[in-house]
Amino acid sequence: MSLPVRALGSGSNVILKRYLDGLIIHVGLLGRSVVDETADDVVVRIGAGENWHETVLWAHENGYYGLENLALIPGSVGASPIQNIGAYGAELSDVIERIEVVHSGSLTTRSLLPSDCQFAYRDSIFKTEKGRDWLITAVDMKLSKTPTLNLSYPALEVAISSSEKSPQALLRAVIAIRKAKLPDPAAQPNVGSYFKNPIVTREKADALGARYPNLPQYSARGGAVKLSAAWMIDHLGWRGKGGHGALVAKEHALVVINKSAKYASQIIEFADEIARSVEAEFGVALEREPQVLGSDTPV
Ligand SMILES: Cc1cc2nc3c(=O)[nH]c(=O)nc-3n(C[C@H](O)[C@H](O)[C@H](O)COP(=O)(O)OP(=O)(O)OC[C@H]3O[C@@H](n4cnc5c(N)ncnc54)[C@H](O)[C@@H]3O)c2cc1C
Repeated sequence: MSLPVRALGSGSNVILKRYLDGLIIHVGLLGRSVVDETADDVVVRIGAGENWHETVLWAHENGYYGLENLALIPGSVGASPIQNIGAYGAELSDVIERIEVVHSGSLTTRSLLPSDCQFAYRDSIFKTEKGRDWLITAVDMKLSKTPTLNLSYPALEVAISSSEKSPQALLRAVIAIRKAKLPDPAAQPNVGSYFKNPIVTREKADALGARYPNLPQYSARGGAVKLSAAWMIDHLGWRGKGGHGALVAKEHALVVINKSAKYASQIIEFADEIARSVEAEFGVALEREPQVLGSDTPV
């Protein structure tokens, strides 16, 4: 019998339905090592089962810079390429050298280059039909031995005073901002951002900008524009509002908290209501960020 196979890391970005069909593999491969080094850079290889944030701290403490903006993102290293994790002006694809994978059907192994992975905003080939069957076993990242700072995100520039522009200060600032803004999933169950920030054409962004001058807009790949989904949800008064056993976090309008829902379908229904209201007001479709695994009925 051939079972569908899916990987699971720490489970921080999945919505689990009632019935999980097939085989779920928790990839727990550990290990962190330097596999290449020049005067300026190192390439580190990290086992898929390593914790992402602990890996950020390990790299930083060893003087390998470039991951500070991605501190405190929950989850495993193996899951990090799936949605090309990103935060505060940085994305994993900025540092990826290679990804080691094994095919869950044929057990063939491959070393994928970034050009194989179709990395985009919260997206990669691993979310598509073509890439879904690859299990990630290790991730290679190229990091700088020279302190480098990515302060492209405005709140970080503000948080770091000009006298202390160092990777240490950047790491502290990212951790402090995240702790202040994001509800702790251990205390208030959530998957982080429930929706992606929508990407629209320049024409659409200009039309929205004329009607809603405060709607934050950021430039995206290929001349497109990324809109703040949090702002639109907040503008419609959803922050702190609940339904179906779920609640939009008071701290951040993109975070949906499970208060008392028993089934994934309740969370999905609540979030769909939010998405419908955004579409009705702004003419923009919101896309769910976390992956839904399983089904509502036995298979
Ligand atoms: C409070 C909070 C804040 C967050 N903040 C951010 C943020 O700032 N930026 C951001 O990008 N994300 C953020 N996230 C989302 C989450 O942290 C990331 O998506 C993370 O990479 C998920 O890791 P995980 O190990 O928990 O993955 P899981 O939830 O276990 O899995 C996620 C997906 O990856 C697949 N997968 C897992 N491991 C493997 C593997 N080894 N091989 C192949 N496929 C695999 C799973 O099948 C699933 O489809 C946040 C989540 C929370 C709860």
